[in-house]
Amino acid sequence: MVKPKVAFFGMTSCKGCYFQLLLANEKLPAIFERLDITDFWMLNEKPSGEDYDIAIIDGAVSNHENAELVREVRKKARYVIAYGSCACLGGIPALRNPGEKQHNAYHKMVYGKDIAIKSYPHAEPVHKHIHVDYMMFGCPVNENEVVRVITDLLLGKVPKEPDYPVCVECKKNGTTCLFKKGEVCLGPVTRGGCGAPCPAIGTPCDGCRGPSPDANMDEMREIMKSHGMKKRETELMLTKYTGGDS
Ligand code: SF4
Ligand code: SF4
Repeated sequence: MVKPKVAFFGMTSCKGCYFQLLLANEKLPAIFERLDITDFWMLNEKPSGEDYDIAIIDGAVSNHENAELVREVRKKARYVIAYGSCACLGGIPALRNPGEKQHNAYHKMVYGKDIAIKSYPHAEPVHKHIHVDYMMFGCPVNENEVVRVITDLLLGKVPKEPDYPVCVECKKNGTTCLFKKGEVCLGPVTRGGCGAPCPAIGTPCDGCRGPSPDANMDEMREIMKSHGMKKRETELMLTKYTGGDS
């Protein structure tokens, strides 16, 4: 059997999403045995230059090298997956986006004024630079989704991005809504697909998969206000994974 060629690339991120590969491999080792892994970010510094059937890109585009890399990968890959909320939304690296001046000041404080700032003022999602075929949201990604998407591709099926909010999954799981306990949870406006693990253990969803396609943010702001949240606190919570512009 000809194995599909799969390449993993990493840009600006904490790399936590790559650890989910270990969990996915534990759940279904048979799928990883069916892949010919040509590139793995942690093992080879530069792309092998081969053509890939599937390229998996983790991290936000935060500098010129990242932007070059995604353009090169797109030329070589038939199917590109943006892997994790850093790659799909800007994610945690995009926390710096609203405050370019502050970012520059912190940079100077940490590295001194003689080291040039090479990073872009904004951390950007991969789809702002190239066409992406599938966005796997989550901080980190969910290992079940990793297994589902790779399995679909191996079977020749086009994987479908979840387009419903986290609340749908709480309902399916029989989890008591945290609003009933007086908490503020971003489940109503967050893209599902994670299985709602946070509310299941009593922790409010903090929106790590970004906004669901039909999210009513104005209504969410009103609800947060009615729970006593201040405007700044509300906006910080709503834009934590998007830098406010994804
Ligand atoms: S999405 Fe979250 S866990 Fe994944 S690499 Fe980015 S910061 Fe780390
Ligand atoms: S419930 Fe919310 S915060 Fe938790 S994994 Fe899902 S999207 Fe992320």
